Amino acid sequence: MDTQAKLELLADASRYDLSCACGTKGGEDHRKRGAAGLWLYPVSLPRGGTSIMLKTLMSNACANDCRYCPFRSERDVPRCTMTPEEVASVYMDCVRRYGVFGLFLSSGVIGTPDHTMDRMLAAASILRKQYQYRGYIHLKVIPGASDEAIAQAVRLASAVSLNVEAPKASYFRALSAKKDFERDIVRPIKLISRLTADGGPYARVKQTTQFVVGAAEEKDSDILQTTFGLYRRWGLSRVYFSAYQRGLGDARLPGERSAVKPEDLLTREHRLYQAEFLMRLYKWDVGDIALEPDGNLSLTADPKQVWAQRHPEFFPVRLRSAEKEALLRVPGLGPVTVARILAARRQGGIKALDEVGLKGARLDKAAAYVTDG
Ligand code: SF4
Repeated sequence: MDTQAKLELLADASRYDLSCACGTKGGEDHRKRGAAGLWLYPVSLPRGGTSIMLKTLMSNACANDCRYCPFRSERDVPRCTMTPEEVASVYMDCVRRYGVFGLFLSSGVIGTPDHTMDRMLAAASILRKQYQYRGYIHLKVIPGASDEAIAQAVRLASAVSLNVEAPKASYFRALSAKKDFERDIVRPIKLISRLTADGGPYARVKQTTQFVVGAAEEKDSDILQTTFGLYRRWGLSRVYFSAYQRGLGDARLPGERSAVKPEDLLTREHRLYQAEFLMRLYKWDVGDIALEPDGNLSLTADPKQVWAQRHPEFFPVRLRSAEKEALLRVPGLGPVTVARILAARRQGGIKALDEVGLKGARLDKAAAYVTDG
């Protein structure tokens, strides 16, 4: 198989991994096929604006047995592996021809975790040393990688991720018999957190992770508790959620017994993103996220709306004098609108919500919870 054919297979395979800022908005598929047939993903740039990223696997051969995954070892699918030189050269070609912003490099487990890491690190090293590439590289950390390999990944990459997949060991065991939750997932995530902590030599490196949602009978409450800990305790930059796709790995998983219908799993994923947003950007405590009696988020209303409906004593909020945190509790008011309200107050006052650009359904929604006093 030539390099182009390998890349076709491996770049397409990488779409199952969302642990970077690409392709997840509203559950839609935002990928663009480039002129050479590569999968290129739109990404938001740290300083604003957008660009495109090349996502690929180094190999879709895998020694592991993750039961939701189409590339687990038991499955009979076409397999191939790129060399580190091929990855580096293909990527630099993309930089020259399409001006791509960065590389997201993941891989199935080629023999052992450290052998796989060696190959991925070699590709990153060629880019950094031979091509003098100083731009964005996101490296996936392979579950079970040694501390040395993880430290090397942090030295070479702009961002790293290791998919947590499930919120607890008991759920994780239903997904894989070969991987150990504490040894292969939790311990390395903590190590990366320490290496990339504020004030340390690799504080510039971001760490992200991803859950598979709905595969293991886990509740949203479990996922949100773990997400909260990953943000507040371990300093992760982003947590992503990927709805389990039945049939992709040909295995029946316990989550399929759940009351949530397969067609509602994307809604569940969306609600988790809304709750995650409240904890990450609005600094809500996990205890503020309103759950249904079964421990899951409402499928019919967003978590902020549910909180407002359950706390009538908190409203109405005063438009002219309420604290920023109180305004952020109002359904329909996001950080941008609240910043505009605060700016309008400083510049002479505000009498009504439509003065800060709010209109239509969002205006109606917010107006029900705000007084102009
Ligand atoms: S480690 Fe698991 S999720 Fe990753 S490619 Fe292998 S089987 Fe799939």
